[in-house]
Amino acid sequence: MSFKPANNIQDLQYFGEFGGVNPSISDSSTYTFLSAKTMFDTFEGNADGCYLYSRHSSPSNLYLGEALAAMEGTETANVTASGMGAITPVLLQLCGAGDHIVSSRTIYGGTYAFLKNFTPRFNIATSFVDITKLEAVEAAITEHTKIIFCETVSNPLLEIADINNLSKLAKKHNIQLVVDNTFSPLSVSPAKLGADIVIHSLTKFINGSSDTVGGVVCGSQALIDQLRNVNDGAAMLLGATMDSFRSASILKNLRTLHIRMQQHSKNALFLAQKFEADGLKTVYPGLPSHPSHQLFKSMMNTQYGFGGMLTIDVGALNKANMLMELMQHKNLGYLAVSLGFYKTLFSAPGSSTSSEIPEDEQKEMGLSDGLIRFSIGLDADIERTYNMMRECMVSLNIL
Ligand code: PLP
Repeated sequence: MSFKPANNIQDLQYFGEFGGVNPSISDSSTYTFLSAKTMFDTFEGNADGCYLYSRHSSPSNLYLGEALAAMEGTETANVTASGMGAITPVLLQLCGAGDHIVSSRTIYGGTYAFLKNFTPRFNIATSFVDITKLEAVEAAITEHTKIIFCETVSNPLLEIADINNLSKLAKKHNIQLVVDNTFSPLSVSPAKLGADIVIHSLTKFINGSSDTVGGVVCGSQALIDQLRNVNDGAAMLLGATMDSFRSASILKNLRTLHIRMQQHSKNALFLAQKFEADGLKTVYPGLPSHPSHQLFKSMMNTQYGFGGMLTIDVGALNKANMLMELMQHKNLGYLAVSLGFYKTLFSAPGSSTSSEIPEDEQKEMGLSDGLIRFSIGLDADIERTYNMMRECMVSLNIL
């Protein structure tokens, strides 16, 4: 694939107003106009390059948005105050009363809750399907369907969406393919594979320092203009705007994303191979045993690897909890939700990030009690980490 997402980020130069090597942070919520007419034109969206009010756009947010659009290969992007602040306006912008969404059933618990419990208030219905079964996805599409929604690598089961074929399906039915690429930045470029809209929670790998929440919608100029429209734009009117200080700091962290992703992936692959060889039920897209290993390989930008997320199943929640507490005690990582930090993070999704999904549905989708989701950190000596994790498992009779 000739598309090189990290080069695209690297090639973007922004200078501060005094020649600073980083752009100046815009420290204003509102902007002056020399003429009343320009203010009016800006309101109408007809004054390019003019800023009006920072909920609409700000220089710092535009810099970050541009960099993320370059990374995903879309025309433009809109940064938001959180990942949910990116997902919810897109769904509400594209769907109105009577419309329908086909969604992967294994998605982040918050997105699932929004589709299952919140959008029905607006008479927007969702069918949840096994996204790895294209015929099930197509069978769920109705004349009212506006969106296919999925995650490239699903949270928490690490199922892989076949973006290419899903996009063909979406085009055939004249609907939009919306992909949450939070788990696989740089590794997979969904827009290049045909996705119409690519969303990230910046909270995770992209920012990488677990110090803020943030989100982004990457898509066409027309979509982003719609989202920002002062009269009926969901991003503008729902108001989940990122603060300039945060976007400036995320932009700086984005500059090292390619190096971090390589290390996350290298460490995760090492641990996944060891855990599997030890006989643990291990799920990682980089293992040949993963049902979509070949598919991931066919979609990936090879140099960034298979990502930093893996799961193991230790059989029961109490065992999972004991192991996580012990690993934390040994300073191998933190018992915490979220992902993409320098330190390994682990949690039991069934009782945390996916707890919004009712128990019977968790069972049906294969989300078991003993599942531990790992976001593997940037450890310099992953062999030492493995040996210490193994000791914890042996002492708890997991191995
Ligand atoms: N998408 C995925 C895949 C996630 O894992 C999360 C959060 O865990 C979100 C979206 C929501 O992002 P945020 O917490 O930044 O709103």
